[in-house]
Amino acid sequence: MAEIVLRNLTKRWGSFTGVERTNLTIADQEFLVLLGPSGCGKTTTMRMIAGLEEASEGDILIGGRRVNGLDPKDRDIAMVFQSYALYPNMNVYENIRFPLKVRRVPAAEHHERVMRAARMVELTEFLERRPGELSGGQRQRVALARAIVRQPNVFLMDEPLSNLDAKLRVSTRAQIKNLSHELKVTTIYVTHDQVEAMTLADRVVIMKRGVIQQVGSPVEIYDRPANTFVAGFIGNPAMNLMTGELRGGVFSGENVRIAGINGPDGAVVLGFRAEDASVVPAGGDIVAPTYTMELLGDATMVAVRAGGALVTVKAQKDYRIEIGAPVEISVPAGICHLFDAAEGNRIE
Ligand code: ATP
Repeated sequence: MAEIVLRNLTKRWGSFTGVERTNLTIADQEFLVLLGPSGCGKTTTMRMIAGLEEASEGDILIGGRRVNGLDPKDRDIAMVFQSYALYPNMNVYENIRFPLKVRRVPAAEHHERVMRAARMVELTEFLERRPGELSGGQRQRVALARAIVRQPNVFLMDEPLSNLDAKLRVSTRAQIKNLSHELKVTTIYVTHDQVEAMTLADRVVIMKRGVIQQVGSPVEIYDRPANTFVAGFIGNPAMNLMTGELRGGVFSGENVRIAGINGPDGAVVLGFRAEDASVVPAGGDIVAPTYTMELLGDATMVAVRAGGALVTVKAQKDYRIEIGAPVEISVPAGICHLFDAAEGNRIE
């Protein structure tokens, strides 16, 4: 069992707080992703769990044992980072084997364990090569194999795909997902890439300035973002967020009027996703000149100014309109998300 519990976990440097009273339970075998913009405290949280950074306050429990103060090597975790730090003079086989030697695993077990890890990341044909003779993706797979070979209870991965090109990132991402499923290891994965988070995670934790904003499954976070920060961070494109006034169930703002919205009268932020709205010939809730049109291949994205923002709508792939030409957009009340204007928190 490798449940991880963070209790009031805090990191301060002088008067600056990098991570603020984080409370989180990561279930045994769960794949948890820490997501957020640069500087939000993801890496610091991970480094405290790993034992590379001392917590200023709070507790870290792994498998029911408080590990604050324990050396990284005594925490039964394996780490994979964006810089893979392979030993340049050792070949792939020796690189993968290295953790077993350090941990004094009986030599008789080495070969089988190295080969099994190498097979899992499809490296068996490269075992004789040195890191300098490998591509970036292959090197990252060596780093993965080196983590796997230890058979730890916990994997910590910090942006392991960020040095790979777009295509390799997708295939290595699939491999990580498959491995975590097969190995049944509790995994904490740090990224600032929301697509990576949504595709890999059992649950996503979204952080901003050291504070957790929302914890939930990818679907929960996509369908019910807790605030405008989460709404604007998740999804591609991110949720459209318009500011305006709600009066008697009618939302109105620049170029927009939507009836049937439940919420208290006053200043609000109204959100909707590009794919939930549609371009209509007449009777739209948003009426505005076309700002841009982008062809994506499978769809055409149309952007207009409404509610103080640039709002994007997904149209049919063969839809065409000139920049500046008026466009009407239907935004059904049922697909709208409502947030308070002052704090940006979800209403209802
Ligand atoms: P990135 O995606 O850029 O790696 P992150 O979310 O992982 O960002 P952290 O590295 O955890 O962010 O940093 C959180 C905050 O703590 C940042 O504002 C950073 O500048 C600050 N910080 C990190 N290490 C130190 C340090 N040793 N001393 C002071 N401040 C630090």
